[in-house]
Amino acid sequence: MKKRIFVLIFMALILLVFAGCSDANETAEILYNPEIKSDYMEIMTHIVSSFDTNCYFIANKQTGETIIADPGDNAALLIKMLEENELKPVVILLTHAHGDHTGAAEKLRKTFEIPVYAWIDEKANFSGFAVTKNITWLDDENAPLEIAGFSVRIIHTPGHTVGSVCYYVESENVIFSGDTMFRGRSGRTDLATGDLNAMIDSFKNKLYTLSDETIVYPGHGMTTVIGSEKEQSAINEFINTDASERRCIKYVCY
Ligand SMILES: [Zn+2]
Repeated sequence: MKKRIFVLIFMALILLVFAGCSDANETAEILYNPEIKSDYMEIMTHIVSSFDTNCYFIANKQTGETIIADPGDNAALLIKMLEENELKPVVILLTHAHGDHTGAAEKLRKTFEIPVYAWIDEKANFSGFAVTKNITWLDDENAPLEIAGFSVRIIHTPGHTVGSVCYYVESENVIFSGDTMFRGRSGRTDLATGDLNAMIDSFKNKLYTLSDETIVYPGHGMTTVIGSEKEQSAINEFINTDASERRCIKYVCY
């Protein structure tokens, strides 16, 4: 009898320990470099240019049709990778005009005879770049692109530049965020047409309205998820503060 009571007390203690653990995990888990798990979409990351830009191949696993996002440089390598993997490029999506995101766009456009898309407000920032004359301008956030078998929503997220956009594929729960959202912080807002308050609005009113599980593929660095950024992004501290209290730290403005 004594033995049975001892066992019951022991089991109760174990249950209490586990209950304590679950209480400690109330906040969202900060995931390390999360990756898509999908039967339909494969995402290949190529780090290009001297700025270590992430160029993404977003491939339809069934057809091989592929969206190229932000081909910043190294056109010959990107072409080789596309051919070696037997991918069929169908479109180039640009998140914004900066050279480290657009450097190889013209070469790829000509090689594969595919269109290049960017947001219309970014027109001014494209002047001087070779791709200027050959862009199909996007101007409607409510008209998703139907490409490579996916419905791609365009989310206008000014802040890094006035015409920066993110490309969101709801069916696969992924977003390509360019230089708007990075793991742990926003992109810089001190370059031409950058705007700190616009960046804060883009986070608060657009990106943070997506589901916490949405995987973010940024223009530089590791992936993250929206839920993690709500917990850890350096911009959060300033989202609910008055504009006069905001400041710039080094080259990153909040
Ligand atoms: Zn940029």
